[in-house]
Amino acid sequence: MVQKILVSACLLGNPVRYDGAAKTLVHPALEAWRREGRIVSICPELSGGFGVPRLPAEIAQAQAGEAVLAGTARVVDVVGSDVTPFFIASARAALDLARAHDCRFALLIDGSPSCGSRFIYDGSFSGQRRVGAGVTAALLRQHGIEVFADSEIDALCARVARED
Ligand code: SF4
Repeated sequence: MVQKILVSACLLGNPVRYDGAAKTLVHPALEAWRREGRIVSICPELSGGFGVPRLPAEIAQAQAGEAVLAGTARVVDVVGSDVTPFFIASARAALDLARAHDCRFALLIDGSPSCGSRFIYDGSFSGQRRVGAGVTAALLRQHGIEVFADSEIDALCARVARED
């Protein structure tokens, strides 16, 4: 069965990041997956109600996406507003789309409070990283979807090839 892959929209070249930029990943696998009709593009934060541009946000107090979903951590923007409900809505929108397309895999940009899967930032807005996942990546994983960071695209290629 041809596997579909949920992919961060900014990684595909769409200018949807908080600062209005894209973060395009150039890789032959993406072109092949596009031709094969495998790619399901989403920007969780736009689907969750944010616009472009928007204020940068981080998960507060060095927590991670799992804690946000459990209700024990918050996502705040750079001026201190609690934007947690938007981030939870973003994650749910991504999960709904993944399920609608039977995606078992996701390729998400690392570092984002939504899409990060290997690292995120610690909530201090000082560029300090910590190991952990954003809210969307955490929710997808909780529902059995294998999440790969952009740096892991080669591993995802191998994984997809085994499943086809
Ligand atoms: Fe990219 Fe994800 Fe942020 Fe949207 S929410 S801009 S897809 S990293």
